[in-house]
Amino acid sequence: MCGVFGIYAPDRDVARLAYFGLYALQHRGQESAGIAVTDGRRITAVRELGLVAQVFDEATLETLQGFAAVGHARYSTTGSSAWQNAQPVVRHRAGRSIVLAHNGNLTNTTELRQELETEGIAFETTSDTEVIAALICEHAGSLVEGVQLAMSKITGAFAAIVMDETQMIGFRDPDGIRPLVLGDLDGYPVLASESCALDIVGAKLVRDIEPGEIVVCTADGVQSIPIKPGTEHAPALCVFEFIYFARPDSKLDGVHLHGARERMGERLAEESPVEADVVIPIPDSGAPAAQGYARKSGIPYADGLVKNRYVGRTFIQPDQALRENGIKLKFNPMPDVLSGRRVIVVDDSIVRGTTTRKIVEMLRGAGATEVHLRISSPPVISPCFYGIDMAAKDQLIAAHKSLEEIRQHLGADSLAYLSLEGLEAATGHGDERYCRACLTGKYPTTVPIAADKDRFEATRLPVA
Ligand code: SF4
Repeated sequence: MCGVFGIYAPDRDVARLAYFGLYALQHRGQESAGIAVTDGRRITAVRELGLVAQVFDEATLETLQGFAAVGHARYSTTGSSAWQNAQPVVRHRAGRSIVLAHNGNLTNTTELRQELETEGIAFETTSDTEVIAALICEHAGSLVEGVQLAMSKITGAFAAIVMDETQMIGFRDPDGIRPLVLGDLDGYPVLASESCALDIVGAKLVRDIEPGEIVVCTADGVQSIPIKPGTEHAPALCVFEFIYFARPDSKLDGVHLHGARERMGERLAEESPVEADVVIPIPDSGAPAAQGYARKSGIPYADGLVKNRYVGRTFIQPDQALRENGIKLKFNPMPDVLSGRRVIVVDDSIVRGTTTRKIVEMLRGAGATEVHLRISSPPVISPCFYGIDMAAKDQLIAAHKSLEEIRQHLGADSLAYLSLEGLEAATGHGDERYCRACLTGKYPTTVPIAADKDRFEATRLPVA
């Protein structure tokens, strides 16, 4: 999961706008951030490990002068968190440069990389994004032709923005697995992973980029190159964007996410009612579904856990005792809400179950007499190969345990997940429009047997 942002606006401070766009997309990736600009002759890029606000300051933004900008916030799914893998990726060939920002994960990186290496093409990073950049950059034709060539070879998930000295191009995989939206800022095109990044820069949401579509942004406006006839796939936007990943104030595929999450909670209350005194969310992501559950069930809603909003990447390791109780770095229970009460706790998903188990323990420690877990998605039973670093199959608790075994493992009094039908009702679509592979095991594309994100690390990166 990553966030991408692009803007083509000749009389605006595009680097500053990209900064704020990335700021709104920070939830999609916290490992590194980068912005590249072009002034028509030269591309300048700054990228660094850390949060957007740590990487950029006034002085850095001042060095980024141009009429178009591409930005990226990274969460790694292929390639380690090293500086070299920070994006936008920059490649040069024959006096020409390109920068590329990519959200998603390719499923044929290994084969393509080997093929390109056999042709003598060198790689400086261990990410799949550089494979896309190499395919585009090595092509002798126009930037659009380079993108078309790359799209004909790569498989998997990609929502990407590429820029050379004169134009910016957005493109999305034929399944549309990762989101990419088009916005309008006083007539200038803006591309972003989510509409919340358009809101922050004052741009209007125009539409989602279609699966397989290429949009070329130049001084003449936006030109759309639709998917080549005959190569269309059934759309497969990641349903987890609706459940958890995207911000609740974003709108994807015509759906307001906060409303969809509330409907998931309402449906969960209909499907799995239980007598209790209070409904609490696991903050922040469980909140809309918990509100929906409370409204439908008539049980009061309250905040029973306070989340430390400033927990991000810490380079200071907690001591052993703190590490064992690491959950306390993130959440603190409210005994006055929980003590002596039967509590329904709503979360969006359970992956390994480690955090959920500790939260149940914490709620009981704060005096809850019963803890009923309600999960606003169906059980996660299969890994994701499309850019979500969930876990390998053997680490997914629901892949190997029955509902009752999971309940016992988590120590809850009851446990219920939203049904697939309930999820479909809340989002408006099922398999015909959304990828739900981690919930069903049915993948919209062919997938590799395994996808270890560090598989290219044998070629060790130099220390930054
Ligand atoms: S497998 Fe799951 S997380 Fe991955 S793209 Fe599909 S729905 Fe999203």
